Amino acid sequence: MVGLSPLARVRQAVLDVLFPSRCVGCGAYGSFLCSSCQAELPCARPPRCPVCWQPQRQGDACGRCREERPAFQGARSLYLYQGVAREAVHALKYNYLSALAQPMAQLMARYVEEEAIEADLLVAVPLYARRQRLRGYNQSALLARELSRRCGLPLAGRGLARRRNTPPQARSADAEARKRNVTDAFVADRRWVEGKRILLIDDVMTTGATLDACARALRQAGAASVWALTFARED
Ligand SMILES: [Zn+2]
Ligand SMILES: [Zn+2]
Repeated sequence: MVGLSPLARVRQAVLDVLFPSRCVGCGAYGSFLCSSCQAELPCARPPRCPVCWQPQRQGDACGRCREERPAFQGARSLYLYQGVAREAVHALKYNYLSALAQPMAQLMARYVEEEAIEADLLVAVPLYARRQRLRGYNQSALLARELSRRCGLPLAGRGLARRRNTPPQARSADAEARKRNVTDAFVADRRWVEGKRILLIDDVMTTGATLDACARALRQAGAASVWALTFARED
């Protein structure tokens, strides 16, 4: 419920009464992501590029990262964007199942701890203001807020903003188009991020263009370093 607009809060309360919690994976009642479905989440296992987390045979940076280093030091994702992980991301984004942010962020918090990811500040990938008003919430901010509560890292509420709307990523076909689409789309606030080691949070990593553009804006505003963490990724 945290991070919801008043309207979304009412909508969520009504939905909770009409539709008691059911697992997005198997439909069992009692939780939004049951323990057996959590156990079946498809892990994004190494070996992978240590920078962008693309599957790789050896542990060196992949060709793309060697050619042009992303603005983030490294990106990590817990799961592949498949099966139950995909169902969960979809339900959080499109079905107003904001309560799902809790079990998802719990898994992310465990990952941060296990992988000993160090940061001073969490920053969520922002939505354009109008799109956020239409949806009632930003799914990445929900994940970041829940993660903040669980791992004790502060969340920069206004550290990063999207200064213009970009067409939904799915409509712009190739990687180059995606990159053009998000370049300069973000602006970071120096008062929040200067000198900080940032952990950037999003639900899904596709080509990495959005995370790269966000990291670039954060670095331009003086962030000491940027790591990115997403719940899922497309390989
Ligand atoms: Zn289940
Ligand atoms: Zn790479």
